[in-house]
Amino acid sequence: MTIYLSPIKFSNVALLKRITEALSHRYSVVPLDVSLELDGVYSKDRGQYYSTQLIAHAIDHANHLDGKLLILVEVDLFIPVFTFVFGEAQLRGPVAIVSVCRLHEEFYTGRTNEELLFERSMKEILHELGHTFGLVHCKSWDCVMHASASVEEIDIKGGGFCEECERKAFH
Ligand SMILES: [Zn+2]
Ligand SMILES: [Zn+2]
Repeated sequence: MTIYLSPIKFSNVALLKRITEALSHRYSVVPLDVSLELDGVYSKDRGQYYSTQLIAHAIDHANHLDGKLLILVEVDLFIPVFTFVFGEAQLRGPVAIVSVCRLHEEFYTGRTNEELLFERSMKEILHELGHTFGLVHCKSWDCVMHASASVEEIDIKGGGFCEECERKAFH
């Protein structure tokens, strides 16, 4: 499986490098600049970016790819029914998007924790990629496909796919 990795206005180079390395253990990772404009999906009312619209723009770039397009952003994402989202992906779709905005420990406690940021980022990336592989939410807390509405829930859940999800996604 090839993952086309497309950061948009992503300033944390060290984090991006670690993510790329970690993903490379599982997938073939190819950097891809899709040059999407974030400004067009910005909501002035909310001060956030509409992730579903960003996915809609990205699909044009992703449809011809023989793999998944993973978009990483640092801006805060939303979909209208929620206050925010950590990420979004369509089931069996070609695009996954993850924001690290609310994965920063600074966001909650003011303290920097790059290790925790990396762990949370990988969990949410694998989670959204899992949706593109056709996985739905999993009841097991050991599984990265467990739904997370908060960072506490991200921290509690496991960092990999459970046996059943692994089997469903890759066989
Ligand atoms: Zn999910
Ligand atoms: Zn699972």
